[in-house]
Amino acid sequence: MTPASEVPELVARCRAAQGKHRGRTVEQRAALLRKLKGAILRRGDTLVKALMAETGKPEPEAWLHEVVPTADLASYWGDEGPLLLSASEPPLSAIDYPGKYAIVERVPRGVIGLITPWNFPVALPLRTLFPALLAGNGVIFKPSEYAPRCGAILGEACAEVFGEDLVIVAQGGGAVGAALMDAGVDAVAFTGSVATGKKVAHAAAEALVPVSLELGGKDPAIVLDDADVERAARGILWGAFANAGQNCAAVERVYATSKVAKVLQQRLAELASELVPGRDIGPLVNAAQLAIVEGHVDAAKAAGAEVLTGGERLDKPGFWYAPTVLSGVPAGAAALEEETFGPMVPVVEVENAAAAIAAANGSKYGLTASVWTKDVRRGEEVARQLKAGVVMVNNHGFTGAIPSLPWTGVGASGFGVTNSPHALDTLTRPRAVIIDRARGKREMWWHPYTDGLTGIGRHMAVLRGGGGFVDRIKAFFGLLGAFAKRWKT
Ligand code: NAD
Repeated sequence: MTPASEVPELVARCRAAQGKHRGRTVEQRAALLRKLKGAILRRGDTLVKALMAETGKPEPEAWLHEVVPTADLASYWGDEGPLLLSASEPPLSAIDYPGKYAIVERVPRGVIGLITPWNFPVALPLRTLFPALLAGNGVIFKPSEYAPRCGAILGEACAEVFGEDLVIVAQGGGAVGAALMDAGVDAVAFTGSVATGKKVAHAAAEALVPVSLELGGKDPAIVLDDADVERAARGILWGAFANAGQNCAAVERVYATSKVAKVLQQRLAELASELVPGRDIGPLVNAAQLAIVEGHVDAAKAAGAEVLTGGERLDKPGFWYAPTVLSGVPAGAAALEEETFGPMVPVVEVENAAAAIAAANGSKYGLTASVWTKDVRRGEEVARQLKAGVVMVNNHGFTGAIPSLPWTGVGASGFGVTNSPHALDTLTRPRAVIIDRARGKREMWWHPYTDGLTGIGRHMAVLRGGGGFVDRIKAFFGLLGAFAKRWKT
């Protein structure tokens, strides 16, 4: 546990290390990222053990969702990163700006505050760590208090490659996170709940630093009449119950059109009842999370919903809840409105695609969404009408592991972006460098202001779109006159 009072000192140490790191070329940093990849993958067994102990996720998920994506992250940022970070030279008009040229560079922010949740305690921080380090930043990483061991192992891997101070792990709960927000970091990448996200946004506003917020979700899946029901049921099963539903992008609402709704919910319930606790699905992370799931299911039942499977705790030590499929959940119930973050999915029958779109978009959240249909063109049309940062046809939520695709949301799901070149906007700032090789003693627009300069302005406005053809001919000659007058005064 890191005392909150020590966090400013950590930022100072990190800043000193970052001063050296940013002096490395981007190719040198990319080479270090490849070493970091090896340092993390070599710790695969240790990481998987920690992941299973701290989060309860099944072993295949620990490997495939958390450890293995490290390889793609390193390849993407190591191979594409140098080009993405390279400077550009936007052309300047030689007539308007003679003798001048401009360069736009991406400059590291400095020290990034990285605050992450427990549900993907390895993959999520790495999504920011790789591009942050490539861009020349240092990072103070505050893992979740529910996954400190995972955070510590990532810290050891970073220390092996970059030394002790470029990536510093600050362990603890909300108090340490809040202290980090006040400790003078230059930008913040936050992933977590809406309630904490709002506190982080306030603190970032006070500190006037950029912040990326990746928050909760209540992701819809829309199943249309012509869907392949078996694929849709199996895809939604995985989308809803992977990580025991403790996934920001979990399917938490299914809207199925009348023709398929009954058969889909029956098949989904069958498949859910076949999931083996301990092999296919783990427990919830803590008692509070279990209470939320139980609360949503019980309230839905009280409001008339039918439990097709599950609907109760499992009699096992820990926080186990049976994979649950509900039907007949009335609009407005928490099970359809609030993030459940557990193994529970309601299937709602709707009349048609338009009703499904309206219901899906009726949420305050907007992280990911999926549409299931054999007509992929129609699926694409429907997908584009959904309020979500990531929309899919005939699949759900797997793209968090693809570094070239932006992961982002709208509304209460936040506005942060991880993965893809867009992630660099939080981690770097643009710097415009303008060089003037002109030898003239003054620019046309400098003092003194004269009638000739006013004339130049008036004629330019007409020439640049403020008049018809004849007006522009006149303005052209007027401009020549105004220039001549300007250079005499
Ligand atoms: P949380 O908000 O409770 O905690 C997240 C992190 O914030 C933790 O490290 C915590 O210690 C820290 N924290 C708490 N109070 C703080 C404060 N005042 N200032 C700074 N930091 C503070 O979230 P959680 O329960 O760990 O994670 C679950 C939530 O995360 C869910 O809502 C889930 O949807 C969301 N999530 C979103 C994404 C995404 O990509 N959008 C991904 C994963 C999880």
